[in-house]
Order: sequence, then C-alpha cells, then structure tokens
Amino acid sequence: MSKRPTIEAPYGTLGEWTADRADMRIKCACGRTMNMPAANILGRFKGDGEVSSKVIRLRCRGCGRRGHATVSSIPIFRR
Ligand SMILES: [Zn+2]
Repeated sequence: MSKRPTIEAPYGTLGEWTADRADMRIKCACGRTMNMPAANILGRFKGDGEVSSKVIRLRCRGCGRRGHATVSSIPIFRR
C-alpha cells in the first residue's frame, strides 16, 4: 500500500515546473528533506510528466518509503 504524495505547487507537470525555474523541496514523512535544483528535475525524473505520478516513484534514502512525501516549490526571486 502506498500513499499519494502531497503536492504543494501550482504546476501540473515537471515541464511547467522547470520552465518557471523553481527548485523542488521534497520532505518525507520521516523528516528527511531534499532540495532539487530546477536544472536537475527533468534529468532526475527522466523526462517530463505529471508531477504527482513522477514524484510517487521517488524513494526516500532515509526510510526507504515511497509516496510519503510532501513536495513544494521554491520560487526563484525575480528582479
Ligand atoms: Zn523517509
């Protein structure tokens, strides 16, 4: 049984996410947090796709669970 990840970002797809150059913060239910720079997102997830269906495949390096994460965006501040 796996839980769906919680997505706290205004993006439907990874392509929209990276186009906005926002970094991704992934916080697992065990408390482990990982920041992924926008430039690494498409490479890490092997291409574009729906955010929730891509993120659910991530496995936490701390506790080994999938889908127990809260994913949020860290917008780049623009001048
Ligand atoms: Zn974890």
